[in-house]
Amino acid sequence: MEIRTRFAPSPTGFLHIGGLRTALYNYVYAKKHAGQFILRIEDTDQKRLVKNASSNLIHALKIFGINFDEGPGFNEIYGPYKQSERLDLYKQHYLELIKNGYAYVCLVKGDELFPILDVKEGLQYLEYDTCVIKLKIPDQGIIKIFDELRGEVEFDLNLIDDPIIIKSDGFPTYHFASVVDDHLMKISHVIRGEEWLSSLPKHILLYKSFNWKPPKFIHLPLLLNPDKSKLSKRQGDVDVESFIKKGYLKETIINFIALLGWHPNNDEEVFDINFLIKNFSINKIQKSGAIFDVKKLNWMNSVYIKKLNIKKFILLFNETYPNHKFDFSNETKLYKIFEFIKNRIKILDEVPDLLSPFYNDFIVKDLEVLDYLKTEEAKLVLQYWYDSISSYENINQEDISELIHNTEKKISLKGKKIFYPLRSALYGSFNGPDLFAIISILGIEETKKRLETYI
Ligand code: GLU
Repeated sequence: MEIRTRFAPSPTGFLHIGGLRTALYNYVYAKKHAGQFILRIEDTDQKRLVKNASSNLIHALKIFGINFDEGPGFNEIYGPYKQSERLDLYKQHYLELIKNGYAYVCLVKGDELFPILDVKEGLQYLEYDTCVIKLKIPDQGIIKIFDELRGEVEFDLNLIDDPIIIKSDGFPTYHFASVVDDHLMKISHVIRGEEWLSSLPKHILLYKSFNWKPPKFIHLPLLLNPDKSKLSKRQGDVDVESFIKKGYLKETIINFIALLGWHPNNDEEVFDINFLIKNFSINKIQKSGAIFDVKKLNWMNSVYIKKLNIKKFILLFNETYPNHKFDFSNETKLYKIFEFIKNRIKILDEVPDLLSPFYNDFIVKDLEVLDYLKTEEAKLVLQYWYDSISSYENINQEDISELIHNTEKKISLKGKKIFYPLRSALYGSFNGPDLFAIISILGIEETKKRLETYI
């Protein structure tokens, strides 16, 4: 059997982090089995459509290297791949269901629906009046369905109302369109979020009504907040775009979401999409909800940032902050700064604050720090360093140790009483990088200038 998976988003906004996971699992499963990954746009809810949402979705998938083999405007073997362009196909199929007695027309009058049980009559109304079409669900009985992850799942038919499959605007509902399309597009595995599990009996009954063989189903675990509530917009940004804007690397995001509900055999944590394709397997997907742990995401991003080469890191910064005002013309300084920053941050968002003390418009803003710089003790230290540092052209770690040692001897101050004034005058805060890091980035001239300012 050829493996064919699909990602079938509704274009109602930006790609949600959960949607990206669904797309990723479908993609890697298809690729692992040399199959096809299909993108289908489910735009049948005309009221919820958002302008440009489809192209945003396609763009977002591209950014992550999740390339589809068939999709809107590309390789449309079983196309079109936008549901709003498939209305004729749906019509053929709902007429078949009505004629065979699996679905029936309802006349719409105001807020009320009037079922027309006679087929001929129903079809007439359908032609001239405002109608919807409903699927007949048997009144009694249990339906047993196999989910590849959860095994056999049972649903009580008694609890399921006849769902609308065609709305009064002539568009199909999700249930109907997705079943018809999954069949016509020869989808072998439907991998999607757990929130769709409760719709499964309706889908299976549709397959039965058409006498079609259903695909295999895999319902992925819900994404949860650390307090186990469902991950949702209210908890902050959950669209993929906003993670990129905040400065998470796309490699991090892919790696992180791959682990939301799946893990490799050896429990390896840091890996790329190729590793995932090689090692992905459905039986390693967990059933219980997957916790979205921002701390872990941050840790992982710091790992990826540390691995970046400096040029790439700077490029990424410039791409993330195209309007920044830092003067990057001194390349040696720039490389030193980014080398220094690389090991200290978790997300790119932290870079501007770390950069600013190193650039020319530097002034101490913290009032506590400013007050401290006015004390006699502090001034003594600054003056001593100002005088001593002039004799250096370059400075290394040993020179710094020596200077500290001499300061202790000369003006009998120690530890913080030496570091605080220097760091304050040179970097603007009591705490922060070690003196060598700061001075070696600033250079002797700039160091002297800053000391002088605060003496
Ligand atoms: N259009 C549905 C969504 O927005 C797809 C559900 C499915 O994969 O069957 O999530």
